[in-house]
Amino acid sequence: MTEKAKINLLGMTRQELTDFFAQRGEKPFRAVQVLKWIHQRDCTDFAAMTDLSKAVRGWLADEAEIRTPEIVLEQCAADGTYKWLLRLDDGNCIETVFIPEDGRGTLCVSSQVGCALDCSFCSTARQGFNRNLTSAEIIGQLQVARGRLQPEEGQSRVVSNVVLMGMGEPLLNFEPVVAAVSLMVEDNAYGLSRRRVTVSTSGIIPAMDRLHETLHVALALSLHAPNDALRNELVPINRKYPLGPLMDACRRYVGKGGHHSRITMEYVMIDGVNDTPGHARELVRLLRDVPCKINLIPFNPFPDAGYRRSSEAALSRFRDILIQAGFTTITRRPRGDDIDAACGQLVGRVEDRTRRALRYARVPNVSGVTPP
Ligand code: SAH
Repeated sequence: MTEKAKINLLGMTRQELTDFFAQRGEKPFRAVQVLKWIHQRDCTDFAAMTDLSKAVRGWLADEAEIRTPEIVLEQCAADGTYKWLLRLDDGNCIETVFIPEDGRGTLCVSSQVGCALDCSFCSTARQGFNRNLTSAEIIGQLQVARGRLQPEEGQSRVVSNVVLMGMGEPLLNFEPVVAAVSLMVEDNAYGLSRRRVTVSTSGIIPAMDRLHETLHVALALSLHAPNDALRNELVPINRKYPLGPLMDACRRYVGKGGHHSRITMEYVMIDGVNDTPGHARELVRLLRDVPCKINLIPFNPFPDAGYRRSSEAALSRFRDILIQAGFTTITRRPRGDDIDAACGQLVGRVEDRTRRALRYARVPNVSGVTPP
């Protein structure tokens, strides 16, 4: 007889864990105890959970487990950026990136195996798509990073910020993403402030509204173009959710007066495509009434991308127009690009179900990762 599959407690929210214990006749505070062991003390062994009774520890070990994705490859870039290739139970692999900065450490987390969208300038798109990640696989990336990194002196935690800017479109994997994010911000779990967790989206309007109602964390929008014609080309989901309604959704997200937060507008700078002063002025008009700040991201190249990064001169001209119009604008300098860890360079290893990877078949093993 095969052994019954164990239940993985890693991705369960506080409510789900409470229900899990209630169904087994245990008090709700068990959930809080176990949450703390998993997410604050990185403990995956029930036997070590000493504030649980022996009996509870016993049946937990029989029925349940705390399982994180397995590290296949760890790379560290010259600038201290880390990238992990993680293998999931079904053999697919995803990538997670850690970016150390002065006074903070940002973990860039994947939400899907590959991506179902087909943005023309992103190498994840070329891997095709396999499936959504579970909440355990999403929060598991945080677990893996913490297991590998030591806080520096005076630092209470090594991961101080999380961005859902890895592989995939988080808002097309709504429930598991919300479950994982709720663990990131739950006081009894990882306990980050909501301002320190950012969901990045290509603009899935109904899900932006749902997120606003469900769990109000920081939101970034992958804008990349100031008009529909160009955005249709770069971010094809724009045909379904065009700029007019999208800007309305952004305004709804920040609320009246925008006092809750500002949306971060991500704008990849591609030579000769979206980086002229005319584009900058159009962007100023588009964003005039949207509480936001703007992140310019110099395009990160990958083989056969068909695009080039904007020149420094074009970048600063563009930035100056935005700043003069009153927008907080920063340029996101590429991090970890020597190990292909920068924005848009994450590929993992995706069993493509969409046949899109075939269309892009000329693209070889873009990450340069040798299979184990
Ligand atoms: N699907 C979500 C999450 C991915 S975030 C989203 O679209 O927001 C990854 C960010 O990197 C997005 O802003 C994406 O547009 C950007 N990006 C993709 N390819 C890039 C590249 N080659 N160079 C720079 N940025 C890129």
